[in-house]
Amino acid sequence: MDDYIVIQGAREHNLKNVSLSIPKRKLVVLTGLSGSGKSSLAMETLQKECQRQYMESMGMVTDFISKPKVDSITGLSPSISVGQQTTHRSPRSTVGTVTEIYTYLRVLFAKLGERPCPRCGETVVPSFGDSAVYPIAETEESEDEVRPDAEEAVCRACAARLPRLRMAHFSFNKPEGACPSCTGLGVATTVDIAAILDEDRSVADGGVTHWDRLSAEYYPDVLKAAALHYGFAFDLHVPIRQLGEVQRDLLLHGVGSELFSRHFPGKKPPKSVGAGKFEGVVTQLWRRYRENGGDHAYPKKIAQAFVRRSCPDCAGTRLRPESRAVTIRGVSIADVSGWSLERLLDWLERLPRELDRESIRVWEPVFHDLAERIRRPIDVGLNYLTLNREANTLSGGEAQRLRLSSLLGSGLTGVLYVLDEPTAGLHPRDTRKLIGVLRKLVELGNTVLVIEHDVDVMRAADHLIDIGPGSGSAGGTVVASGTAERIMSVPDSVTGQTLREAEKPIGFRPRRPGNGNALTVRGATAHNLKSVTVSFPLGTLIALTGVSGSGKSTLLFDIVEKAAGIRFGRSREEAGPHAGIDGFEHIDKAIAVDQSPIGRLSRSNVATYTDLFTPIRNVFAALPEAASRKLTSRHFSFNVPGGRCEKCQGMGTLQLDMHFLPDVEVLCPVCRGRRFSDSVLAVTYKGFSISDILDMTVEECVPVFEGMDIADKLTLLSETGLGYLRLGQPSTTLSGGEAGRVKLARELGKPGKGHTLYLLDEPTTGLHPRDVSRLRLLLDRLVDAGNTVIVIEHNPELIAYADWIADFGPEGGEAGGSIVAQGTPEQVAMEERSHTGRYLKSMLG
Ligand code: ADP
Ligand code: ADP
Ligand code: ZN
Ligand code: ZN
Repeated sequence: MDDYIVIQGAREHNLKNVSLSIPKRKLVVLTGLSGSGKSSLAMETLQKECQRQYMESMGMVTDFISKPKVDSITGLSPSISVGQQTTHRSPRSTVGTVTEIYTYLRVLFAKLGERPCPRCGETVVPSFGDSAVYPIAETEESEDEVRPDAEEAVCRACAARLPRLRMAHFSFNKPEGACPSCTGLGVATTVDIAAILDEDRSVADGGVTHWDRLSAEYYPDVLKAAALHYGFAFDLHVPIRQLGEVQRDLLLHGVGSELFSRHFPGKKPPKSVGAGKFEGVVTQLWRRYRENGGDHAYPKKIAQAFVRRSCPDCAGTRLRPESRAVTIRGVSIADVSGWSLERLLDWLERLPRELDRESIRVWEPVFHDLAERIRRPIDVGLNYLTLNREANTLSGGEAQRLRLSSLLGSGLTGVLYVLDEPTAGLHPRDTRKLIGVLRKLVELGNTVLVIEHDVDVMRAADHLIDIGPGSGSAGGTVVASGTAERIMSVPDSVTGQTLREAEKPIGFRPRRPGNGNALTVRGATAHNLKSVTVSFPLGTLIALTGVSGSGKSTLLFDIVEKAAGIRFGRSREEAGPHAGIDGFEHIDKAIAVDQSPIGRLSRSNVATYTDLFTPIRNVFAALPEAASRKLTSRHFSFNVPGGRCEKCQGMGTLQLDMHFLPDVEVLCPVCRGRRFSDSVLAVTYKGFSISDILDMTVEECVPVFEGMDIADKLTLLSETGLGYLRLGQPSTTLSGGEAGRVKLARELGKPGKGHTLYLLDEPTTGLHPRDVSRLRLLLDRLVDAGNTVIVIEHNPELIAYADWIADFGPEGGEAGGSIVAQGTPEQVAMEERSHTGRYLKSMLG
């Protein structure tokens, strides 16, 4: 039995008393429709119980941790789950720091770096021969204590002694290395004078645009008093642009500032506001900024006064000028941080040839380990990433693959890895590579359990477990398990059918030509884009394809979405560099749906987020029973006091603070999870209380609200593949793909008029191929109603179905950023240079 993890009687969520065995040291893939119960099994049952058993074995008290609803699980090993959440939220984490590649480079630059001699300007070359460079992690912390006075560098030309370079000099998270202006963040926040002043108007005429009415009445008198104190007159009635330097400095910086007081050396500033203690428009903004912790949580008008841009002193490199002046064969650590991993590896492999034999001997182990570390992310298709990329800007799939690649290096064995859709955001060409990495983990003696929808990964599995047959209450059983061939022979298995169909070529279908208009982006150069010009035919379904990092999101979200935001007055955020966009006059609005999580507030749930809860509350409030109990719509809200249970404030659960452990959720002892007071719960519609409704799935609610707008919106949610969600499910618990589809359904539920441009980021994430077919119908409806839909996609079925494709590439990062092929799927399939084209060719048959 040592060869299996055996689960008996799993009943979490929709699981129907499931028993199954998972072979160890194998690649096991969990499949099924979305909502069928895959996560309930893998994450909520297996992974959770692993953690619980592990803590128990460490002698920790686990009474508070709710045991998953399962009779028994045997054969468990320590587990590591690799989800899609980015764990690095700090702007100080970069690809370089989280992979530790940057740490190695700091060692290299500290030891091999050449720098200009401050006295004579000659280049000072370090002396080698210091072999105590390992282990890196210890080197970093204890470097100074271990060798406090190790050799200084001496200039051969003028014999000046230079202080020894240390690793800290290259860290932007340490004062020794960080750029003093931006403290190592690489971005500087400044006040945008143009956003707060209208220079053509006078102060009296509303020239300080962010002042509210009260300020506009009050401050001019203070200004006048201040001027009087210093013995000049402030002219409130000339355009601000014509104010003299002294007046301008007073207005912007105030009496307490260096910039103003320099005009009156020795003069004491006024003591009270009445006497003219004017703070200065810019100075005041900064004070309020600091008081708010810089989080812009004040009126939008004021928030807009601050602009974040690349720090002018370090040009965004985060490092001190002295640190940037250190080079190895002419390149600085800031230079290499901006290179793709691929280019970095190439540089590193050439470097030893330029060193003398002794240094090679000393440095060989570091070169070797560093190269190994750089190769790992390259092996999972992240070759285009740069070390200076902020970790929190990585997509879910990228973050997951980066973590995966570092796990490979850990050399752990006997571990259960649980992964959630590692192919998200990955081009089919790179799926092979990913499978290779999963295989390697298995070869190291680990069990790899993957939730996946990708047919190639399914085929590569040693063992498939198909959960279903349907979703929600129609799922929750093991429909079939075994090899892909075995699954294909099971008639009831949706996955089996999918695998069978995937072997047949897709038939030709006529492509929609569009309405004759186009949206043309000209000369796009943001990030890696190589002056891309592309014309999207309006009135069609368009797929942006290309390997990960090729520039799809940059074009669609950094340029088109932001330019549309400005054009349609929804935002002021500047679009990435491009020459222009033509054709906005043909559309009436643009809606972008990405996969960022919704609602940091745990109070938001599926019903509230989709604007369904208010009409539902109104249905309840309109019932005679509600009227007789004097209950209005607000009593049916769990967000305000009145009708809700006050113990749990309408959440139905309480959070137990476990100190050093994650919080634990327990049922509210007062309402026992019902969220509302008994009086509210006594009001029922077709036999359901408001609490019952929140506990029901979207699909179950459709017949309840039949004939109402509510039912239409619920049906939309179903059509995006989310019929299994409970209305009361907190938004914070939705996966990235689910969040994306909830947002999509919410947008579709709004009455549309005119031509809408939809910009969608991989809407198929988390969807079984069968669910994809449903989503496709929904997108079709949008296009057939006269709108345009542009999706970033890797899903072969959706790509082959699109009316028009723009394929980016040929590779990721610097080697990408061009359009390799464009046109109908048939046309793209003819393009030899296109990875997508080759893939399409084999599919279209
Ligand atoms: P899959 O991973 O296959 O998409 P899930 O395991 O997430 O499916 O969901 C299976 C069922 O369990 C669905 O009906 C879903 O609504 C329900 N479910 C998921 N999470 C929760 C939860 N936190 N509480 C209650 N029900 C849940
Ligand atoms: P795709 O959407 O095709 O995966 P992206 O548009 O995300 O590609 O990335 C294109 C290039 O731009 C890559 O080299 C990527 O590393 C870079 N890039 C993407 N986002 C950022 C960012 N926020 N900052 C710096 N570089 C970025
Ligand atoms: Zn700086
Ligand atoms: Zn309660």
